[in-house]
Amino acid sequence: MVFLIIFGTRGVTTPLASGQFHCPGCDKKRTYVHKRVRRFFTLYFIPIIPLDTIGEYVECQHCTSTYRPEVLDYDPVKSERSMEAEFHTAVKRVMVLMMVADGKIDDEEVETIRLVYGKLAKGDLSKDDVSREIEASKADGRGLRQYLSSVVGSLNDAGKEIVVKAAYFVAAADGNVSTEETNLLAELAGALEMSPSHFKTVMEKLTT
Ligand SMILES: [Zn+2]
Repeated sequence: MVFLIIFGTRGVTTPLASGQFHCPGCDKKRTYVHKRVRRFFTLYFIPIIPLDTIGEYVECQHCTSTYRPEVLDYDPVKSERSMEAEFHTAVKRVMVLMMVADGKIDDEEVETIRLVYGKLAKGDLSKDDVSREIEASKADGRGLRQYLSSVVGSLNDAGKEIVVKAAYFVAAADGNVSTEETNLLAELAGALEMSPSHFKTVMEKLTT
């Protein structure tokens, strides 16, 4: 008889605290839960040994947006700039990185980025915003996979779903999603530690 020992790692999310905060997304006082994501060594998919902390976020219990913990000190009256939900940041970067993969980003691609952002993040992104994002991603230098692994600790399931949807819409912008592109999307979902069944459900919702 052969025993197959399956081991790996995965992020496990635990609540640390909760209370009231000013949610920049809702622009209202809301209930939050402060959560920590810690990587665990898993055996047969069961978390066994805690490893390093990969992130912390504050989640609005009304709109489900996640923010960096600094949001708890955010004062909408005093601060000039609004705090951005983590999925907004990730959606922008992922779209730029996908577009940049084949060289330059043309005007049509910039329009696609703006359209998809408007649809998913329900916000306006100007051409200058897109240019700034392209510059920022160049300066950062990380590729798509590396970038996604770094945001796993600041996104909840809803946020990950929106990022995958954005990647899907970018891939679908030329009229069809090739097998190659579907494989890339599955890879992105994997880098975000989204379960294969969750990814399948998201894709089914998008294609039916
Ligand atoms: Zn909210």
